[in-house]
Order: sequence, then structure tokens, then C-alpha cells
Amino acid sequence: MSENILALLAAKGINYKAMEGGDKGVPQITSAMVAGACAGLDRIPYLLVRIKYSGDFSVINELAELICRRNDYQSTQARHLMRAAIYEVVSDNICNFCNGTGITRRTKCKSCDGTGHKPRQ
Ligand SMILES: [Zn+2]
Repeated sequence: MSENILALLAAKGINYKAMEGGDKGVPQITSAMVAGACAGLDRIPYLLVRIKYSGDFSVINELAELICRRNDYQSTQARHLMRAAIYEVVSDNICNFCNGTGITRRTKCKSCDGTGHKPRQ
């Protein structure tokens, strides 16, 4: 069962028919599924997976604090930068208009200028 849950976490190549619920809908990844699939991980990767795949941003401060402590970053600015870095890592950053291809209607995507990534704000 845990390999099926981990397969849900993969960005591509999901076999929905092998998942519970069959092919009639997209399976939902719940916090409980993520927690079960990540049993035994260290706290830092566990929190990162929890944020990225179950969208639980309530633990982002704990994750930033743990990473800063591990690397002996003690300033408030370092914690802010760490949170920004975590946001960057967990966001999909794929252009919504071209789905990351960089092309719409056989021309370069105007939204992302052909990069396939969301434009920087
Ligand atoms: Zn685009």
C-alpha cells in the first residue's frame, strides 16, 4: 500500500486505475496518506514532503527553524530567507497557460516568454 501512496506523490506517470477510486476521478492526497508514506523519515524531509504534497504550510516555520539550526544560521534574516527558499522549493512553478511547454497555439507562450515557468513577480 505505501508504494501506491508514494506513487501518488510522483509528479508524472501516475496509474490512476491502480489507485483506490478507479479511473473515475483523481485520487486525493491526504495528510494522513503523506504521513503514512513518510514514516521513518527524518523530521526535515518529512516536513518538506508534508508541505509540498499535502499543502500543510502550518509547519513551514518549524521546517525553517530546523534547517537554520542544522546549518547554524542564527539571524532573523536567515529564517526569512529560509522560508522564502522553502516556498520556492514547494511551488510547482509551472506556467498555467502552457503547462510548462513554453508553447501555446504553435507560438511562444506570451505569459512565460517560452520558458514554461511562472514569470517572476
Ligand atoms: Zn507559458
